[in-house]
Amino acid sequence: MFLYIMDTYQTDSSQNTTDDEDEIIGYYEANKTSISMQKKDYYKKNRTKILKKVKCECGRFITKNQLLRHKRSKIHQQYENFLKDCDKKLDNSINFD
Ligand SMILES: [Zn+2]
Repeated sequence: MFLYIMDTYQTDSSQNTTDDEDEIIGYYEANKTSISMQKKDYYKKNRTKILKKVKCECGRFITKNQLLRHKRSKIHQQYENFLKDCDKKLDNSINFD
């Protein structure tokens, strides 16, 4: 049933894709529904995995796919600057009082 729908959809839209340069876009257009369904399916199956938060060194909890973005954020940069300052202070005076 599903395959049949996809087949008819592909043949319908293949008439519009004539340019070789637009091959990738054409592929996406032709498979738009199946791609989005695959994505939705993947999300459903891996929802807990995707939404699982990991703890950053700065103490915040961030989802894994946002972690790289977070590391470039002001909040994390402030933490890194703070660490650098601490290192400098430790280098200058090693007192454990
Ligand atoms: Zn952080």
